[in-house]
Amino acid sequence: MLIVMRHGAPLQDIDRVVSTIEDMGYHARPMPGKQRTTVGLVGNDGRVDSSRLEALPGVQEIIHVTKPYKQVSREWKPESTVVRLPGGLTIGGDDVIVMAGPCSVESERQILDAARAVRDAGATVLRAGAFKPRSSPYSFQGMGRAGLKLLARAREETGLLVVTEAMDAEGLDQVLEVADIVQIGARNMQNYSLLKHAGRARKPVLLKRGLSATISELLLSAEYILAEGNPDVVLCERGVRGFDTTTRNLFDLSAIPVVHGLSHLPIVADPSHGTGHRDMVIPMARAAVAAGADGLLVEVHPTPDRALSDGAQSLYPEQFERLMRETRIIVEAIGRRLAEPAGARA
Ligand code: PEP
Ligand code: MN
Repeated sequence: MLIVMRHGAPLQDIDRVVSTIEDMGYHARPMPGKQRTTVGLVGNDGRVDSSRLEALPGVQEIIHVTKPYKQVSREWKPESTVVRLPGGLTIGGDDVIVMAGPCSVESERQILDAARAVRDAGATVLRAGAFKPRSSPYSFQGMGRAGLKLLARAREETGLLVVTEAMDAEGLDQVLEVADIVQIGARNMQNYSLLKHAGRARKPVLLKRGLSATISELLLSAEYILAEGNPDVVLCERGVRGFDTTTRNLFDLSAIPVVHGLSHLPIVADPSHGTGHRDMVIPMARAAVAAGADGLLVEVHPTPDRALSDGAQSLYPEQFERLMRETRIIVEAIGRRLAEPAGARA
């Protein structure tokens, strides 16, 4: 529920609303705005009797948030969230950001080659997993902490920011030492203790849609992170399980405008996991940007045939250059810009 205060309502009226909400057994989140302050009521599971609040001085209007998710909804916050990254990059504003790199960090040579290739093609964030959630316990599980160190090196070398996955609370603390953005993968979208930990972190979180998650479940998972105090969440459409095995997943591009309608949070698209085949990545990247995605997450490997994970969907560096060229045309056609490397902004 949202309690909208009158324009210029004095602080004591706002404090009174806050203390009444707390008296009722809920939590209050005052949100000062340009025109007026709104106080959010959280902690309820169902409709709240608002009669005690309606009568308080300074209260203009009470809005019942009808969705099960509250703080992530557009009803709660009509203006789009712009997530700010180091070096002046943003996600969710006019810029469309491209995060690219191999599925996994495999060696120093591999990650540095990949980082240089994606930077030279115009990406601004390096993506690669040090901790890998694999379907089989016998598949490559990632380099772990050593992989994080290599990501830090690659950032130093190239100036790219780093997004990398945390699989559990312990790993999250390690990832937070290095990452500019923490990825929570599809398999962990409903790992509620991990979501709560990420909610207490002070770095942006990239939350991928679960293998069979509805959009509402994705938004409820994001709500866990916001409810713990971290407002910087970027959602990611990466496809859901379908019945047709021609593609690895069913890449749900309609989720992009749906999420933009329901939520103020940015949403990026991952056409690599969405399709599973490198030949399908470029057309679906173009389509995702045309559909309004705030960014792309793309797997690129210097030698995809030798990749230890997701080689079949990883682009060759020259294919990634083409993706960037073609994406730029679409981005500009819809009145947006491709995010530029931090150095180019100075
Ligand atoms: C990844 O980004 O490499 C990954 C494991 O993705 P997802 O969680 O979407 O399967
Ligand atoms: Mn992958």
